[in-house]
Amino acid sequence: MSNSCLSLLQNKEANQLNSAFERYYNEAFADYFSRDPNKWPVFNEPGFAAIHNFRQQRLSPHERIAGYPNGEALHAQLVGDASLSQGRMRPSGQPDEMLAFAAALSKDWENPSSVENVVTMPADPAIYGSMMGAMANPNLAYSEYAGMADQLEKHVIRQIATHVGYDPEQSTGLFTQGGTFCNLYGYLLGLRKSLPTAIHHGMQSVPDYRIINSQGGHYSNMTNLSLLGVDIKEKTIRIKVTDSHDIDFDDLERQMRACFAVKCLIPTIMITMGTTDTFAVDKIKPVYDLRERLCEEYQVPVKPHLHVDAAVGWSMIFFLDYDFKRNPLAINEVTLAGIERTVARVRELKYADSFTVDFHKWGYVPYTSSLVMIKNKDDMKALENEPENFSYFEHDLQGQTHLQSTIECSRGAVGVFGAYAAMKYMGIEGYQIILAHCLQNANYFRSQLLELGNVKLMVPENQGPSVGFRLYNPEWVNDVNAEFANEQQCMSNEAYMAMLARNSKWHRQIFKQRGKVGLYTNWVEFISRSAYNPYGKYSYIPGEKAVFMNPATGRTQIDTFVSRLMG
Ligand SMILES: *Cc1c(COP(=O)(O)O)cnc(C)c1O
Repeated sequence: MSNSCLSLLQNKEANQLNSAFERYYNEAFADYFSRDPNKWPVFNEPGFAAIHNFRQQRLSPHERIAGYPNGEALHAQLVGDASLSQGRMRPSGQPDEMLAFAAALSKDWENPSSVENVVTMPADPAIYGSMMGAMANPNLAYSEYAGMADQLEKHVIRQIATHVGYDPEQSTGLFTQGGTFCNLYGYLLGLRKSLPTAIHHGMQSVPDYRIINSQGGHYSNMTNLSLLGVDIKEKTIRIKVTDSHDIDFDDLERQMRACFAVKCLIPTIMITMGTTDTFAVDKIKPVYDLRERLCEEYQVPVKPHLHVDAAVGWSMIFFLDYDFKRNPLAINEVTLAGIERTVARVRELKYADSFTVDFHKWGYVPYTSSLVMIKNKDDMKALENEPENFSYFEHDLQGQTHLQSTIECSRGAVGVFGAYAAMKYMGIEGYQIILAHCLQNANYFRSQLLELGNVKLMVPENQGPSVGFRLYNPEWVNDVNAEFANEQQCMSNEAYMAMLARNSKWHRQIFKQRGKVGLYTNWVEFISRSAYNPYGKYSYIPGEKAVFMNPATGRTQIDTFVSRLMG
């Protein structure tokens, strides 16, 4: 880990809350996350207001059913008999009891302690926009069924394209069902371009190929490949990751050369901008340059499609034009340095052939609102199915949409409306304020954990919203760095493997006993990895994590959690 990052984390002044920043934050929170009916009249609706009021009580998860009016009875009804009612129910103009109950008692992402994963409460404007989209109900499958929503989708795509440095005329994109589907498109684009016969004949008859992704990638990588009929054991190469969990360029080059030397095709290279648990941001330009260089050297006719899974990390594009010298938002020093480090990599997004954007994660838009961005719209041609399959639709209009190239038929537009509204109202600056607030929380949490002494922070140099850590029994361990370094050698030392198991078990027990206090942290089996053994094998290292994407979380919750760790 870089020493400058560590020393900044331990420096109180670098971690302080600047009063100017706090003013911006309070204003942004009041405008975009407070469910204020004066600002957003949709929250005047009695059912919506009731949901919000219940949640404002901030009950802990186990108190919620009993704390809800008539909660036990409603719960019993919900889990009980489920026959359809024969009779009609006339609208009374009053909120529906069961709908309000189920909504209010859905997982409360507005609770300031909710930091379990990359999930958030949506922003007020995004809820407003999504509701408009739900009411209009356009279908993006086909322009005639979408009407003006088709233009709204294209508008949002051009906004993102322009902002990241894609040519807005040459690029395209589409809203689809989750980040998993965006990555599915990434893989499919590569397969269709490199192995064009597969569209009709499947994967049996194609020339030899390997898909390349990273060991740090999201699990959807593997579910997608399996779905596509790719042999994930024999035809997929998972590249090693560095100690910071980003892709290992030496291993990547070695593997690509091994493929190209024997004329084995590489349809897709999938890398990650912000891994889910450790926020590793792969550098994109070096992968792009390597691809260009090797394709030239080996005379590869169809270049591997380079897809960047930016499901979590894309939000950092809002800092691309931030003035880091002047720091107009008064972001604290440690966080400013962290953002600057990340943004240097995010700037390379324009080298990706396509990338995944999850508005429903760090973009504060309701589910599901995922966008796959595609640099070269001609790539969509490779996905086109036979026009005669589309006999439902008028021939002349088909070419104007992605109809023949999409995996889905019906595509909802709720995500488009939500994303447009969130970006319109929050603007680049609103996002900067909220994201910086989250990242300042993450760094404050890191700094407080470091002070405890019996905590090993996972990759604090990855300056994202996720904070992973391992807690050690102070009676057994006095130097957590040395202990962790030994644990990392577990693949070549049985005693260290036993030590890793014992420490993990202890931490897990403490985690279970503690209950959820202050921050609702989570346990993950793969917060880090061991060193590789000589055969490239490694072991998962488990740990605890908190993900600071919640705009409502503040230092109060962090302090409560940390003092509980001490007691
Ligand atoms: C969440 C996530 C995905 C999957 O996205 P969904 O929207 O949940 O389908 C893919 N990659 C990364 C890095 C993610 O964090």
